Amino acid sequence: MKNNIYGVYGASGFGREVMPVVRAQLQSSGVSADRIYFVDDNPESSSINGHKVLCFKEFVEEEAADRFVVLAIADGGIREKLAGKCSESGVKFFSAVANNVVLMDAVDIGDGAILSPFVTITSNVKIGCGFHANIYSYVAHDCVIGDYVTFAPSVCCNGNVVIEDHAYIGTGAILRQGRPGNPLVIGRGAVIGMGAVVTKNVPAGITVVGNPARPLQRG
Ligand code: UDP
Repeated sequence: MKNNIYGVYGASGFGREVMPVVRAQLQSSGVSADRIYFVDDNPESSSINGHKVLCFKEFVEEEAADRFVVLAIADGGIREKLAGKCSESGVKFFSAVANNVVLMDAVDIGDGAILSPFVTITSNVKIGCGFHANIYSYVAHDCVIGDYVTFAPSVCCNGNVVIEDHAYIGTGAILRQGRPGNPLVIGRGAVIGMGAVVTKNVPAGITVVGNPARPLQRG
């Protein structure tokens, strides 16, 4: 454990919010703060909030038994791409879980999640890899969430909702609860605008806004 190094990949706004969560989590298992880095491909400075910023190459070359990252970049497509690059270089993943997160019964979450402060996941929930739940979001019972799904702050995801891979749910959106055997479905890559109230299924790749949420009319 002591010889491992850890990275928060993405040294921008969200990464700076994730770092204190990661530091508290790792320090409680004996990792010293100087083994925890920001990793960024376009670093704007060499140190942020007391942590060194390394480019990916430097992180991979840094002496360590094992290297772990959490991908703290809101764009799920970028997370998937960077996950592939990390895996190719033998970099492993860890999840960042704030110390006041509530996880109820039978919660199954894939690798590399970020559960920010005040997040609650209730019972019998299944979530894929690379999930982000930003501050104050919740996921209620019997939801099934795919890979690289992103929740902005304060997302209310009620029970029996299915969210497919790469969907993005904006700040304060409310997803109406589905029924057992007839879930509300948010399709792959759909975008739910901030504050939207989603009462019906959203097809893949569509952006919806408003209350009740409707497809965004562009131009
Ligand atoms: N980034 C990176 N590699 C990539 C894409 C992005 O290191 O392939 C970094 C980028 O340099 C920036 C951060 O990830 O520092 C993304 O920050 P942004 O402000 O776009 O988003 P957020 O912090 O909200 O996720």
